[in-house]
Parts: sequence; C-alpha cells; structure tokens
Amino acid sequence: MQQTDYNPFENAQAQFDKVAELLNLDSGTRELLRQPMKEFHFTIPVKMDDGTTKVFKGFRIRHNDARGPAKGGIRFHPHETADTVRALSMWMTWKCAVVDIPLGGGKGGVICDPRTMSAGEQERLCRGFMRALAPHVGPNADVPAPDVMTNGQHMVWMLDEYETISGARYPGVITGKPVGMGGSLGRTEATGYGVIYTLKELCERMNMPVESTTASFQGFGNVAEYAARMYTELGGKVIAVSCWNQADKTAYTYKKAEGCDIAQLVTIKDSFGNIDKTKAQSLGYEILPGEAWLSQDVDILVPAALENQITPAVFPNIKDSVKIICEAANGPVTPDCDPLIRDKGIMIIPDFLCNAGGVTCSYFEQVQCNMNYFWDKKEVLDKLEYAMKKAFAAVYDIALEKNLFMRDAAYVIAIKRVAEAVKLRGWV
Ligand code: NAD
Repeated sequence: MQQTDYNPFENAQAQFDKVAELLNLDSGTRELLRQPMKEFHFTIPVKMDDGTTKVFKGFRIRHNDARGPAKGGIRFHPHETADTVRALSMWMTWKCAVVDIPLGGGKGGVICDPRTMSAGEQERLCRGFMRALAPHVGPNADVPAPDVMTNGQHMVWMLDEYETISGARYPGVITGKPVGMGGSLGRTEATGYGVIYTLKELCERMNMPVESTTASFQGFGNVAEYAARMYTELGGKVIAVSCWNQADKTAYTYKKAEGCDIAQLVTIKDSFGNIDKTKAQSLGYEILPGEAWLSQDVDILVPAALENQITPAVFPNIKDSVKIICEAANGPVTPDCDPLIRDKGIMIIPDFLCNAGGVTCSYFEQVQCNMNYFWDKKEVLDKLEYAMKKAFAAVYDIALEKNLFMRDAAYVIAIKRVAEAVKLRGWV
C-alpha cells in the first residue's frame, strides 16, 4: 500500500538497524531479524460475477516466530506491495514482543479493491486466499486477522475454507471473527481503545489532563472510530477527522471547531470508514482538503489511516500547539521525520506500542478459542488495559532512564526479547 516514494520495508529495516547498533547485536542475529523468515507469494484466480476470471496477487509473510506462532492481519488494497507486507510482518514481531505476548510476527495482503467487488466475489477471493495458504497457517503456526479493508465476514469465509480443507473445527486459526463465531467481545474496540489507554498514560505523565486536550485524526475506520469514541468519552475534543472519499478519489478533512460528534459521524460513514460528504455538510461540518487534518491547532495528532503520512516535507505544517503524536496506524511517520519530531519536543507513542491493543485482544481471542470458554467484555477490556498500561510504562521508563526517543525505547525492549528467544532456540 505504498503511496509515496518511501519504501516501508526500508523504513522498518532502518529503524531496526539503528537499535541493533545501539544494542550491539551480533551480526547473525542482525541478519536474521532484519528480514522475514518465510514468504509466500501466490496467485488467486477468482470467477467474477460477469463470468470472467480475474487473477489476484496474494502474499503471506512470516517475519519471525521464535516467541510463538506468527500473528498479523490481512490487507485488501489496490496498492498493496510485497515490501509493505514485509514491513508490516516485521512490525508485528516487535508489537507482540513489546506487549510481551507469546506470538511472532506475520502479515498478509491481496492486491485488490474490495470496494469494487460484490460480496460473492469477495467470498471467492477469501476462500482462494485460504486455499493457497492452508498448509502454511494454523493455530500453532501462523494466525491471520483482519486489517485494512478486511473484516469479520472475510475472516469467517477464510475460517470455513480452512476447516473444510482440514476436516475439523479450528477456531484459533484466525482472529477478528464475529462474536458467536469464535470472536472475542471487545475485539472490535480493542485497537482504538488500546491507542487511548496509552495516550491516557502519557497525558498523565505529562501533567496534561485528557479532558483539557484537543485532537485531530487521520482516518475514520475501525481504529480511529473507537479511539475517537474513547478519547471523547474521557473528555477530549476531536476537532477534525480526515478520510478517503471513494467517489471523488480524494481525501477530505471534516472539521468542527467546537468538537466533532463522533457517534453522529459514525452514523454517516460507510463500512470502509468514508464519511458522507453531503450529510456532513448538512450537519455543519467544514469540508477541507484531506491533508488539513495535519495542520490543525490541536494538542494531539492521531494518524490512524496509512503509512508514510508524516514526512519532512509536510512536517512544517504541524502547528506549535502539537505536543503528542499518537501513531495509531502502522508506520505513519517516516524515519527521517523522527529527528524533527524529537527536536521539536513532540512526544510520540510509537505505532507498534500504540496500536498493539488489536493484537493483544486477538491473542485473547485465540486463548478463548483454544479453551472454548469465552470471557465477558469487561474481563477482556480490563486485561487489555492492564497489558497496554504495563507495556507503555516499560517503554516510557526506559526512554526516561536512557534518554531515548520513545520509538527507540520500544524497539530496545522488543528487539531484546526477540533476540533472546532466537538465541535460546539456538538459531544464532
Ligand atoms: P480501515 O480500513 O477500517 O480504515 C482506514 C481509514 O483510513 C478509513 O477511514 C479511510 O477512509 C481512511 N483513509 C484511507 N486513505 C486515506 C487518506 N489518503 N487520507 C485520509 N484518510 C484515509 O482501517 P483500520 O483497521 O482502521 O486501520 C487503520 C490503520 O491502523 C492501518 O495502518 C492499520 O494497519 C492499522 N492497524 C489496524 C488494526 C486493527 O485492528 N484494525 C490494528 C493495528 C494497526
């Protein structure tokens, strides 16, 4: 899903190399951890509704599974690339390690645009994806989940295909399933809520009461919606939200200086997180260009859409009022922008910590599926909050103690844990 000249895999490797140097990692461990262990690239022929066959390109990439079965979402996107999937699989390894769950990192993707496909075509694509991958995934090997433009229904089609091939029920093979079909209560909210659990912790440490803060969001999909919901429930004010408009093939920023009504905006967005422009206008929202979300006079920026959105080229547009960048999306800030952020004194909650709530709850889903016993929502969210707070505190404390940028502190913790696992296994 590369949308700029930045290559996300090179970004992920640059971030790793920097911390590998800091940790003085031996060359074997560096070589092993700076690339994926396994890659599957395959074609998926799909019979389209008009009788033609379209061939889609799919990927599943396993970065590292030393700490446990690989875990990571599947994206459907017309701009998907192998390098994006590689980068995301690597970030999944660090994400699972930083929240200390016994899982490794993987990611999948298909070059396609589900917005232009019928439900039947999407189902056949999901089943084709799983047919190609069935020998290589499984509850103890690699466990996929939803990500950009994939949802619970896609996961159930994939689950059904896997179970049909395997001849038994394996609810733990995939997460993000609907509740009642092996899904966990709280999973829908988990990533967005997790973002705000970490933000709340940072605000406390910065003596900045959440209720006195304002924020601007990029994206209004699953992550942004629940982050914005919890943030406003805590008293924060969302000034602007940007999202993609499929009809106009451009993004717009929806702004209300007195604060967006998140519950109301949710009623006028579609399942892809696109807000209806006409309805928003009639509700009094100011409609600005897509990039305007970044230049708002707010305390907190929450990029929750895509990678490579905050670059040195757009950095000057960030207002002096901004004190925190909460990386809800994966890779929204490019590595060459980190020094600018640090020099400006802006605190960052790095992506693989900030959005780890999703995978943590997916892990809870797996645990519940394997036990065939499901927890109530409060239990799930309490466990999630505990895990996110604990992970945040560990990263924050190291950053403070060693005077590290928050991203580097998170990497130090994650890379150390994975390096130890590969060493204990005797791989290096
Ligand atoms: P989603 O598909 O539900 O929503 C994506 C949102 O981004 C939509 O509102 C879309 O309109 C918006 N968008 C797309 N292009 C845009 C543009 N150019 N400008 C402004 N907005 C744009 O996706 P999601 O699940 O919310 O994921 C968002 C990010 O969070 C991704 O980076 C994803 O990898 C990451 N993430 C998701 C989860 C999860 O559990 N869903 C977990 C961890 C990380």
